[in-house]
Amino acid sequence: MKVLRNARLIDGTGAAPAAGATVVVRDNRIVAVERGRQSEFPAEAAVFDCAGMSLLPGLIDCHDHMANHRYDLAHRWGIDEPESTRHLRTAAVLRQTLEAGYTTIRDAGGLDAGFKRAIEEGLCAGPRLLVSISIVSPIGGIGDRMSPSGDCCCVPGDPLLPSGVVETLADVRPVVRRMVRAGADFIKCATTGGASSRPGHGPRDAAFNLDEMQALVDEAHALDRRVMCHALGGRGLGIAIEAGVDSIEHGCYLAEDPRHLERMAERGIVFVPTLLVYEYHRNSPQPHVRERARELYEPHVAAIRQALAAGVKVVAGTDAGGHGPPANAGELECLVKAGLTAMQAIQAGTAWAAECCGREAELGTVETGKLADLVVVRGDPLADIALLRDPANIALVLKDGAVAADRMAAAR
Ligand SMILES: [Zn+2]
Repeated sequence: MKVLRNARLIDGTGAAPAAGATVVVRDNRIVAVERGRQSEFPAEAAVFDCAGMSLLPGLIDCHDHMANHRYDLAHRWGIDEPESTRHLRTAAVLRQTLEAGYTTIRDAGGLDAGFKRAIEEGLCAGPRLLVSISIVSPIGGIGDRMSPSGDCCCVPGDPLLPSGVVETLADVRPVVRRMVRAGADFIKCATTGGASSRPGHGPRDAAFNLDEMQALVDEAHALDRRVMCHALGGRGLGIAIEAGVDSIEHGCYLAEDPRHLERMAERGIVFVPTLLVYEYHRNSPQPHVRERARELYEPHVAAIRQALAAGVKVVAGTDAGGHGPPANAGELECLVKAGLTAMQAIQAGTAWAAECCGREAELGTVETGKLADLVVVRGDPLADIALLRDPANIALVLKDGAVAADRMAAAR
């Protein structure tokens, strides 16, 4: 049994914080949550005194690329270092991400299901993983890895990361089935270019037609997989919403057509803006990437504000991977700058994120009966959301009831 006492409880539901709270964990579950009352505990219980600290649900990042570490072509193609080195680099990032308070990660492409298995078997430390394997897109889309010279990648693909390139309408369903066969929990697709995609395939350039997207969503849902769709603007963004994807990733130009957010609200489509990656791209060494990222910032913030007003759920996702070592909670800081309250930003990275992942029955809030994924933070993130970004402030992380990081010793 573990007892976390004297904590400022921010439970993820949006309820006001409770001072002097106690949370009791038995095995991997939360078995009691008591606000402002001290109880007796068995002598064998491990007691963590959280005075001066806040207790939150384990953080969730709904859009990450854990196996990507840089944006350059050689790295994207996997030819810059031995595969074993890259895998061990990924394992290190998985551990650091967990120790930074992130207990669940939804990977948006590039991470194979072997990492999930390794974590579940205890071979390495890391968050709970929900993987999407490879990005599904048509020829020329972001899942089609071409060099600026028009060359394709020169090394054979990894069988655990089957190609997501769709050539014709008839290929859509088999490609979705191949992702599921390789272990996909979600289907990740793309209906537009992005900030970092090749010149000529930018944020408003479409990929996929409506027939193809309908087939994709239909097949994914038939296999009980949700669809997370990279879509920034233009025709492709409308097609994704029309086809009924479950979340719009990035969504920078959602406010350009007022029907977009209306439809998303009606259909319960979640918005994962991924602000942190554009902070990085605004200073990209590549001029076309820099220009796109700078141009989309103001419309992106407008889209977030209008989404909140329209009742569309806004969820935290960093698009981390290429942009450096884990600082995933930087996204919560970006969301606050974009107009969310600190409480909403915490919900975006906990309860709302769990809903986006379809795991709200088990994760996302500190409530009796849920899995014991918990984070203890020095100070009050409601007063300063930026506290969460610095791993030095993450005093304790429990995942599935087990201690994943403990920096409380100094404070005890
Ligand atoms: Zn992404």
